Amino acid sequence: MLRAVELVANYEGILKRVAAAASRPVTLVAVSKLKPASDIAALYAHGVRHFGENYVNELVTKAAELPSDIKWHFIGSLQSNKCKELAKIPNLYAVETVDSVKKVRKLQEARAAHGGLPINVYLQINTSGEDNKSGLSVANVDETLEVARAVVAAESLVLAGLMTIGLIEQSKREDGNSDFARLVKLAGEVEAALGVSGLELSMGMSSDFEEAIAQGSTSVRVGSDIFGSRPPKV
Ligand SMILES: *Cc1c(COP(=O)(O)O)cnc(C)c1O
Repeated sequence: MLRAVELVANYEGILKRVAAAASRPVTLVAVSKLKPASDIAALYAHGVRHFGENYVNELVTKAAELPSDIKWHFIGSLQSNKCKELAKIPNLYAVETVDSVKKVRKLQEARAAHGGLPINVYLQINTSGEDNKSGLSVANVDETLEVARAVVAAESLVLAGLMTIGLIEQSKREDGNSDFARLVKLAGEVEAALGVSGLELSMGMSSDFEEAIAQGSTSVRVGSDIFGSRPPKV
């Protein structure tokens, strides 16, 4: 009971800060990875529906035991061989870490075969250029356009937007986070090339969501500031 009160207070606190930073609607995704289903249930009872998870097996288990109107966002690094299992989750709402045509095809095939609402796809962009980060290279616009076109052509998928994990150090700069600026610029290029508009920008986490919103984020992913610190992944 105390835990539920704490979680709701944390969530409401973040929601207030999001509202204060934003002049337009911004989705707050509660990142619940490595946290128990009971935590999610407590926030669900408070009306929260958008939750983010990083591990396919964990998400499959939680989705099966929690209410079916939860809008799950998969935000973890995505392996091709896990796309099928992921897309079979009927209330999977979004996959935010798509970075290849192969993964687009696998998600499409599985969703078409198993039914469910179309999956909102975000292309993950490596905006910092670090080799160890996953995502499409921000420098290779053509490759991003190729993957974006594959999503648009896939009947069971919707091109929702772009996602990045910006470098935290960047957010402390006075002139803004250049990772976030690069994602905004790329979204404009994708919109122009594909003739679409209103692509979402998923950027910003506990430590930098206000900066991300100031730079145009429409969806922030907040974990530790809502749920507390996480146990190490085993
Ligand atoms: C874990 C995670 C988050 C949440 O991070 P916090 O710092 O706990 O808010 C957001 N986005 C991604 C991709 C993550 O893996």
